[in-house]
Amino acid sequence: MEKLPQPVRDPKNLYTKIFINNEFVDSVSGRTFPTINPATGKKICDIAEGDKEDIDKAVAAAKEAFKLGSPWRRMDASQRGRLLYKLGDLMERDGALIASLISLEMGKPFLQAYAENMWAAGILRYYAGLADKIGGKTIPIDGDLFCFTRHEPVGVCGQIIPWNYPSAMFVWKVAPALACGCTTIIKPAEQTPLCALILAALCKEAGIPPGVVNVVPGYGPTAGGALTNHPDVDKVAFTGSTEVGKIILQASGASNIKRTSLELGGKSPCVIMDDADLDEAITFAHNGVMVNAGQCCIAGSRTFVHEKIYDEFVARSRDMAEKRNLLTGDPFNPDTKQGPQVDEEQYKRILELIEAGKTEGAKVECGGGSVGGEGFFIKPTVFSGVTDNMRIAREEIFGPVQQILKFKTLDEVIERANATMYGLGAAIFTKNIDNAMMFTQGVRAGTVWVNLYDVVHPQAPFGGFKMSGIGRELGEYGISAYQEVKSVIMKIPQKNS
Ligand code: ADP
Repeated sequence: MEKLPQPVRDPKNLYTKIFINNEFVDSVSGRTFPTINPATGKKICDIAEGDKEDIDKAVAAAKEAFKLGSPWRRMDASQRGRLLYKLGDLMERDGALIASLISLEMGKPFLQAYAENMWAAGILRYYAGLADKIGGKTIPIDGDLFCFTRHEPVGVCGQIIPWNYPSAMFVWKVAPALACGCTTIIKPAEQTPLCALILAALCKEAGIPPGVVNVVPGYGPTAGGALTNHPDVDKVAFTGSTEVGKIILQASGASNIKRTSLELGGKSPCVIMDDADLDEAITFAHNGVMVNAGQCCIAGSRTFVHEKIYDEFVARSRDMAEKRNLLTGDPFNPDTKQGPQVDEEQYKRILELIEAGKTEGAKVECGGGSVGGEGFFIKPTVFSGVTDNMRIAREEIFGPVQQILKFKTLDEVIERANATMYGLGAAIFTKNIDNAMMFTQGVRAGTVWVNLYDVVHPQAPFGGFKMSGIGRELGEYGISAYQEVKSVIMKIPQKNS
């Protein structure tokens, strides 16, 4: 049997400073902010707090690195690919340490954090391979003219990432940007700076030139706001809440019409028809909403179950959540399935929504509150008797809370599945191909799964309809956000006769 990776419970020599031009530096203001362990509520360490002046420095570095004739712009695309491969190897080499930092600062169980980081390394390799395969077109246009397109890097990118997948989100942003030849400033979430900063150190070790990748930890409205409003940033890529996505889109417009890609919230429907394989459907639906303690934009947080199988489905989902409850605890314990929520704010909001569910008349099948004691742990919770108008059926909860709703017909459930401002993911469980086809066509979501849930691969595009976002990440589609298309039209000289 393969040996399991071992966590580093008390990592030393953490990177805690701002990363600009391949150097770790203090913030201009000298200010720091604490990063907290959500399993205990205690401080891990202090991190240099980036603000406008630090963003200005990082943007200047990224702009310099992007100048025509710079080592980065002169580098062959195949060599950019090699650097990304190298970074993937280094992420694997340091997988146990990176995963430990993720467990420590966001509470993800160690083995899940390890798997996340390995998955992220795979995404780097996908884009490493793509780097020298990005070409334009030759276009036959009217007249004695020759037309071709160049797919050029969009320029200096500001990339703002969330805390729920600290390693993967870093890579989702950096890999396509670098494959295309852009430079970047990453603003990690204030909850998870340690992971982003160790990845910054690995970028340097991989040989990525100074100024190409910069990492400025800090708060959203200050460091994030300075980045999204900066006139020298050409493109903003953001993953986070729909609420902040709106602010970012406004900043892009108000500053310099930044190209903007957004991956935002969801309230994804997971539909179980009465002919579904129940064992599979119950397990996928459970994992699809409980994964990462429910802190997942694509969480299947509305489980629609056909009335004929509703009672059995609810009872078995409750049993599964009760088992999960026994495996909720210390992120460093290899048996732990669920850790704490990332911070007190999220924890309180989830508890408030659970209370709203009770008040509005949904039935708590199990869980329904905090685990108690230190840290921000919430019991896996299952609600039955949920109706469409309840807050728990409409709002993104971002916690381990499953809402089970009842339906009669496919037409009805497609309409109800679409009755939301979101459109990130959707799934149907059925053995009937016609049902599957009707659903995949009718549901308005960026990813639709049939007989499974939460499968996200480097090759397949990912993103949202409606208020779940703009643009696609991953796969070949993912690079279009980092390119400008330039048309070149040349006169073809005619032979003198
Ligand atoms: P969550 O609610 O899940 O914490 P947010 O959307 O608030 O998600 O945060 C995601 C990322 O957006 C974080 O890096 C955060 O610091 C950043 N952020 C929050 N507010 C702003 C803002 N006004 N401008 C730019 N970035 C922001």
